[in-house]
Amino acid sequence: MSELKPEALFTKEMEDEVVKLTQDLVRMKSVNPPGDERRVAEFTARYLEDAGFTVEFIDHDADRASMLARLKGSGEAPGVLYSAHLDTVPVGAEKWLHEPFDGEIADDKIWGRGSTDMKSGMAAIMVSAKLLAKAKAPLKGDIVIALTAGEETDSLGAVEVAKRKDLGPLQALIVAEPSANDIFVAEKGALWLEIATHGKTAHGSMPDLGRNAILMMVAFLNEFEKLEFPYTEHPMLGKYSRSVDTITGGVKTNVVPDYCAITIDMRTVPGQDHAQMVKQIEALFAQLQAKMPDFKATVTVINDRPPVTTPVDDPAVTKFNAALAEAVGKATEPKGVRYYTDAAALAPALNLPMIICGPGRAELCHVPNEYVDIDLLVQAVKIYTLATLKYLG
Ligand SMILES: [Zn+2]
Repeated sequence: MSELKPEALFTKEMEDEVVKLTQDLVRMKSVNPPGDERRVAEFTARYLEDAGFTVEFIDHDADRASMLARLKGSGEAPGVLYSAHLDTVPVGAEKWLHEPFDGEIADDKIWGRGSTDMKSGMAAIMVSAKLLAKAKAPLKGDIVIALTAGEETDSLGAVEVAKRKDLGPLQALIVAEPSANDIFVAEKGALWLEIATHGKTAHGSMPDLGRNAILMMVAFLNEFEKLEFPYTEHPMLGKYSRSVDTITGGVKTNVVPDYCAITIDMRTVPGQDHAQMVKQIEALFAQLQAKMPDFKATVTVINDRPPVTTPVDDPAVTKFNAALAEAVGKATEPKGVRYYTDAAALAPALNLPMIICGPGRAELCHVPNEYVDIDLLVQAVKIYTLATLKYLG
């Protein structure tokens, strides 16, 4: 460990800076769709460049970009990768207590869309990185920061970052998604499927001349409810889940429907093979077709993210936990989360242990009246700073 005294960095100015930066980021609307992340990417790049980082953009289209920043260490140790996403979900129709893009402060909280998910986490990463850069902390490895576009839809940015062969060597991936500064080391996988049934239209008064796609879907759903996908309950993630969440079909009341489609959201645990699950569904189609010769269905994978886990005794976790204990004053038991993050794209591709820890609260993601607690926000800066020093000091 260097002679740097990290406590000396944790000043009132640091607290004011992370609050202001979070407010600035909330005020910079980056609702996805459409995304418009480029403006936020450019703002974060300027901030980190001023702090001494080298920055580059990953362009997606005219208004959309992700940003990579790097502070060089001495090269004696692998670096550490911090990740946050630039986009937010839309505001919704409900009236908010505080305007969603004002970044207002009330009750020791910063309010607004993205305050929890996850502009607070992004701000904490940036302020922590700037503190270490300005203090000229002797770092044995690089601090790499990936701020990505599109996490709320298709992880567009993370998928591009994951393809990079020049990021490493790295020893840990820290994702600043909302955890109320707890440590999550396991996240569920997601397998989203669209099932469509295909029939033939006919006049509604002559149904025997058509093939009714809605009735085919009914037959499918009845059997799907009974279909078992084998799994072993995971100590941190629990059971897998599935939910049939949308249905569309039909033309009009006097036309036999030739098309019906549903989407299914399955959340998986380690050991479940997504390709195998799709095969089970195709096998079910074959069974139904054997009983109903007109039955015709197709399955399309619309989102496929593997479950990601890191062993609790991995050095990346124990070091991070030690930093968290120092910052918060007590040790924390690593847990699992049901949501997925950019880690599903980054951790397997870069072969990194991953840790999710951020100042937002998971229960405030994607809901009206989103906020971040200022004390958790300030604490996150301390956690990241101490963690970086444990990894690279
Ligand atoms: Zn998020």
